[in-house]
Amino acid sequence: MSAENRLNFDLHNHTSASDGVLTPEALINLAARNLCDGLAITDHDTVASIAVATKAARDLAPRLKFIAGVEISVSWQPDDDLDARPTTIHVVGLNIDPANTELNAGLASVRGGRILRGRAIAEQLVAAGLPDLFDDAYAAAENKDMLSRTHFGRALVARGIVPDISSAFDRFLTPGNPGFVPHRWANLVDAVRWITAAGGIAVLAHPARYRLDSQDTDKLFASFRDCGGVAVEVVTGSHSPDEYPHIARLTRRFGLMASRGADYHAPGETPIEPGRLPTLADVDDRLDPVWRLLH
Ligand code: AMP
Ligand code: MN
Ligand code: MN
Ligand code: MN
Repeated sequence: MSAENRLNFDLHNHTSASDGVLTPEALINLAARNLCDGLAITDHDTVASIAVATKAARDLAPRLKFIAGVEISVSWQPDDDLDARPTTIHVVGLNIDPANTELNAGLASVRGGRILRGRAIAEQLVAAGLPDLFDDAYAAAENKDMLSRTHFGRALVARGIVPDISSAFDRFLTPGNPGFVPHRWANLVDAVRWITAAGGIAVLAHPARYRLDSQDTDKLFASFRDCGGVAVEVVTGSHSPDEYPHIARLTRRFGLMASRGADYHAPGETPIEPGRLPTLADVDDRLDPVWRLLH
């Protein structure tokens, strides 16, 4: 397994079809410059960039294995605790057919509430004494279907209200701060079913980011596996390196495969470019890389 473990697959990246800023072409060129063996584009709740990206990858980087992907927003709570506030988690789908009807209907339903939620975010920020940022955020979203908190974060930076995007999320847009509007996303079971129906592989994105206690983390891994999930992101730009060994152990304990991806959004915003993270082998040589199923 060790040779496979060292390959430079980067399976989680965003374009301007969601809350990234690069075009598919620019992202593919960046991945090729960084000597990626494989690259997945995984925009939030949309496959709008996949057709263009598939063609661009063939033309610009024929040696790069391009993987059509998506990152689905999910509201999850442990089965035995239905009164608990759901946690927003993300499920990546790899190697999906972007034309699949069930997947597209599901993604459309997840995107549906984003504009109204954006209005409510803007109203909360106004109530906190900030200017109305709806039009700024909406203008920053290239895909009007995919208005995201990231676009509000960039609007806060552009107005000089915060120095950078991480301060935007520290002071605003997150639970307990102005500009956080709880939202009901997809069910875990539905998201995995849409991915699987489209011929894809479901991957639990950046589990260390959810701040669940160890009991609920175990429940999440078990429910994810039981509904057909295949792999877990261990090495990701959304984990800090000290979180890798713990997530690697959990992934192996649950018999799941491992994934790796920068979660790249924008130059100057995401510190580590696609193809620049440590390999899976650097973290734990016994991890079973999900790209064994992709090439
Ligand atoms: P949304 O789906 O509209 O709720 O936006 C979620 C996106 O916000 C994530 O995919 C990240 O790109 C971004 N985000 C969330 N938390 C942070 C953070 N602390 N720093 C930077 N970006 C963040
Ligand atoms: Mn994002
Ligand atoms: Mn995510
Ligand atoms: Mn992401």
